[in-house]
Amino acid sequence: MPGGRTKRVPEPKLIFEKSRPGRIGCNVPRCDTPEVDLSKALGKTRAELDLPEVDELTLLRHFTNLSQINYGIETGFYPLGSCTMKYNPKVNEATARFQGFANLHPMQPEATIPGAFEILHGVQSMLCEITGFDHITLQPLAGAHGEMTCLMLIKAYFEARGESQRSVVLVPDSAHGTNPASAARCGYDVKSIPTDADGNTDLVALEKALAGEDGQKVAALMLTNPSTLGLFEPNIEKICNMVHAVGGQVFCDGANMNAMVGTTRPGDHGFDCMHLNLHKTFSTPHGGGGPGCGAIGLKDHLAPYQPVPVIRKEGENLVADYDRPLSIGRVAAFYGQFLMEVRAYTYLRAFGREHMADISRFSVLNANYVRARLKDVLPPAHNRPCMHECILTAEKYKKEHDVRALDISKRLIDYGFHPPTNYFPLIVPECLMIEPTETETKETLDEFCDAMISICHEAVENPDLLHDAPSTSVVGRLDETLAVKQLDVRWKRPQPVGV
Ligand SMILES: *Cc1c(COP(=O)(O)O)cnc(C)c1O
Repeated sequence: MPGGRTKRVPEPKLIFEKSRPGRIGCNVPRCDTPEVDLSKALGKTRAELDLPEVDELTLLRHFTNLSQINYGIETGFYPLGSCTMKYNPKVNEATARFQGFANLHPMQPEATIPGAFEILHGVQSMLCEITGFDHITLQPLAGAHGEMTCLMLIKAYFEARGESQRSVVLVPDSAHGTNPASAARCGYDVKSIPTDADGNTDLVALEKALAGEDGQKVAALMLTNPSTLGLFEPNIEKICNMVHAVGGQVFCDGANMNAMVGTTRPGDHGFDCMHLNLHKTFSTPHGGGGPGCGAIGLKDHLAPYQPVPVIRKEGENLVADYDRPLSIGRVAAFYGQFLMEVRAYTYLRAFGREHMADISRFSVLNANYVRARLKDVLPPAHNRPCMHECILTAEKYKKEHDVRALDISKRLIDYGFHPPTNYFPLIVPECLMIEPTETETKETLDEFCDAMISICHEAVENPDLLHDAPSTSVVGRLDETLAVKQLDVRWKRPQPVGV
């Protein structure tokens, strides 16, 4: 089989099972503080705590072997869609560890951190230029947090204008779940706008929702561009004009900005504000819940409400401005995730103005390459070139061979690849959402496409291979519902027989 493991990895023993009383893996230095009697402090003896006791090599091998059965971007290709880039250049880690950055204290007087302000302001200015917005704030800690902050600003803007009766936020049915959640969190009623047969926003439905015939007035439209269908919205200017004509605001979900960096700018398309995910498009680590940065871009009319502190130029100096009477206040502690900004700064400067567009060109080229190579076995949901990701449907295998998108994904594990995103966006039946990203080689994409084509042939000739997959991983197919309902995550020492 190409690119992968072929036999099931034996289930690793837990470190508790490897434990033998009295074994020691390291020498602890002599205690230089008053000793505390552990059993008194905890009310348990050491033996009763039942901690694993292993020798040094057993310990080393245990964790090294566990790390080998993990799958990550450093072990293989990762086609998950709607998460954009998964590339975390090592040089970012080197700069984020510079003593001058890593050892800063958040309470340090601002006069002592001009270099940190230089980084924050540098990222802000570069992102302004990339997005076409007048202001950037780096405070929000995740994409969803950036979305919510934008909606809070829109709300403050309408309140200041005496238009707080606007109570509806429109969200297309292809949107990421965080969009309606952010709107609801800000107290808005969410209305779903359908997608038309070409994968675009249904303009007739939008017109109707904007007319507010039910007496409810629209505050904003949240639009993802390119959409989660991997498609650029061709009517974007028209849509922004339609919303503005009834006095509404347009928010851009910019999590997919790697399809556009250096090529086109949401600020020029008519959006009033947007969020970016530095932990997607701008190469900072992603996953495990963060730390992320959901930077937001704003046009001038929303700037008075932006969160404090605002890092801005005052004469020759950079200052943190807290004196903003209309500000919604703080949305994060201190300056946000400062070391994320150092990483994003490193990445932005590494590409520079002249190479920024390469990012979007390669991400779009790679996705269209995969789409073209797979189109005969897995038809695209829409018949036009895609942006940074391609959305394919496995519907015919379900109808003819009882093979579902999930079966294809599970079989991919046997071929040594991480599966793509399944069943999202919700509006595409048997959906497989593949995002190769801008950083993969043609050879890697070919290995992946060869595996997908081979799996689609298996789906026809021997569907049970797919139903039973994965067969080479430590854990086989789980009953996912049961796994959630009956969490079994704690090891209990087996009782000796006869006790
Ligand atoms: C990832 C993503 C988000 C949310 O970002 P988080 O940092 O995960 O909160 C929102 N919209 C789209 C399209 C995304 O891909």
